[in-house]
Amino acid sequence: MLITQSRGEILDFKESPSGEELMAAINRLSQKPLTEDQVYIRSMYLCSNQLCESDGCRFSDGALEAICEKVVGESVLAGHDKRSLPVARFFKATVVDRPDLPDPETGHPTRWVRAWFYWLKETQGARDLALNMDGGIYREVSISWRYRGGRCSICDSPRHRCSHIPGEVYEGRTCYTWIDEVVDVLEGSLVYRGADRETAILGDHQDTNEERREAGATLRDLLLFELPPQFETEPNR
Ligand SMILES: [Zn+2]
Repeated sequence: MLITQSRGEILDFKESPSGEELMAAINRLSQKPLTEDQVYIRSMYLCSNQLCESDGCRFSDGALEAICEKVVGESVLAGHDKRSLPVARFFKATVVDRPDLPDPETGHPTRWVRAWFYWLKETQGARDLALNMDGGIYREVSISWRYRGGRCSICDSPRHRCSHIPGEVYEGRTCYTWIDEVVDVLEGSLVYRGADRETAILGDHQDTNEERREAGATLRDLLLFELPPQFETEPNR
């Protein structure tokens, strides 16, 4: 079993579900019913079906669907500090096509996991968190999950049963590893910009308060973190 980590960036905003739909999803996790004016909501791109050049891995559609399912209810932490309590919680995720980012080989839209998270306005530091995220101070998210197996892109065999090497070129085709089985999503963390990743938050948002809604803004304007996958091998668990 392997653990993968990705770091991300906020790019822009896309069409969002309605406020009612988002609140219904939040209230499936909350102990007591919450209303829109009680929460901050943001979203992020967690990962895509693009090949990650640095580790030679690529998520299948099934893996993206599994990540959507498993991330709901998981924590957003600060700096992977598992000793502290979560700062926010993922409550919804879906796979979206992004025609604005076509696959360089096929020209088809790339597919992404978009995940929404929330935190409570009336908690200590809640506004600071929102301000820092929206103001570009908290620029990245890093997320960890585990996967099992892996499939060779050249011969379709389980990775350990063939001799093809990721990154090598075979008859013009570069070998990589398909990830089909995501076992677990562990957590997402707000992190400082990683020196080794070209990631940044570029987007804008609107929050959910009454004043903004009256001015015509809605939950549709959300932060999006985008996370190019970065995989790290860890001992089996
Ligand atoms: Zn192979």
